Parts: sequence; structure tokens; C-alpha cells
Amino acid sequence: DPRLQAIKAAIRVVPHFPKPGIMFNDITTMLLRPKVFKDAVEIFVDRYRDMSISAVAGVEARGFIFGPPIALALGAKFIPLRKPKKLPGEVISESYVLEYGTDSLEMHVGAVQPGERVIIIDDLVATGGTLCAAINLLERVGADVVECACLIGLPKFKGGCWLNGKPDKFWLGNI
Ligand code: IMP
Repeated sequence: DPRLQAIKAAIRVVPHFPKPGIMFNDITTMLLRPKVFKDAVEIFVDRYRDMSISAVAGVEARGFIFGPPIALALGAKFIPLRKPKKLPGEVISESYVLEYGTDSLEMHVGAVQPGERVIIIDDLVATGGTLCAAINLLERVGADVVECACLIGLPKFKGGCWLNGKPDKFWLGNI
């Protein structure tokens, strides 16, 4: 896809952030370039346009940047998957393991109905732990998770081993 090169060039890689040794992919530089940001959204929209998607779930925080414009373009609802204790209503929660410690994602009960076709959006997949938790959360309430989609797949991401045994559920923008 010819759009990918400009998207890749617009993402800044910051060494040693937030910790020594981490090469942080910073998508905020891409957001400063409206044409490139638009292309990034349209890559997702092109893929899911004719797939009867009724809900787009976005992972806090950068899934909240890409998810809503994708949802609006697809005529779908947007569901925020949040870090603990941010959502005011009744929630269901799914924990996952990080390199050091654990974290969890929460979703409002009733945000999605059983059988709804959902895609999950985040900026980047590293181990896949975050997106696996997101898949579990949605499947626990009976949603049909069509795919998880990210712009960026880090090299340590090895399709298959981290993906809930569902590597076919992941789509990466190959950045
Ligand atoms: P995973 O759970 O190991 O796949 O890590 C993915 C999560 O960590 C996503 O929510 C990312 O936004 C975040 N993340 C990990 N590494 C980076 C990075 O280099 N840049 C931006 N976000 C990152």
C-alpha cells in the first residue's frame, strides 16, 4: 500500500522512552500531518467497509485516537476499553500480564450485544497481551470479534504465540 511509507516516515521513534532500552513509537508526530492521519484511518476503513461491522472498540489511550474516526466512517458505534476505575457505570474487567506486573482493561456492561460484529483498534502490538485481553473482554459478553487491527507491529510480536491461539484475528498495517 503506497500510503504506508508516508505513515511510517511520520511516526517518530524515541530511544529510551519511557525507560532505558525502549524504542518508543510516537504516533503524535503523525497526527500533526492531516493528510497522513487521514490515510492511516482510511487504510482501516478500506479493509472493514464491507464487513458488516457494527462496533469499533478502541484500547486506551491511542485506540481512542484512531477508533472513533474509523467507527464514524463505518457507521458503527465506538466502545472505549479503559484502564481500571475510569468508567463510571457497571463494568466487566479482564486482567493481563505485562513485562513487570499486571494491568487490566474495563468495558461498560451493555456496550455491545451478543452476536455483534466488532473490530478492536490500537496503535501498536508488541507482545499482543493487551489485545488478547481486549478480545477476551468482548468474547465474554458474546461479541463476534472479527479482527484486531494495529498500524504498527513490533519485531518482538511473533504472530501466533501470543495471540490467544487466534493469529487469524490480527491484522497489522505492516509498519
Ligand atoms: P503489548 O500488550 O505487549 O502488545 O503492548 C501493546 C501496548 O503497549 C499498546 O497499548 C501500545 O500502545 C503500548 N506500547 C508498547 N510499546 C509501545 C511503543 O513503542 N509505542 C507506543 N505504544 C507502545
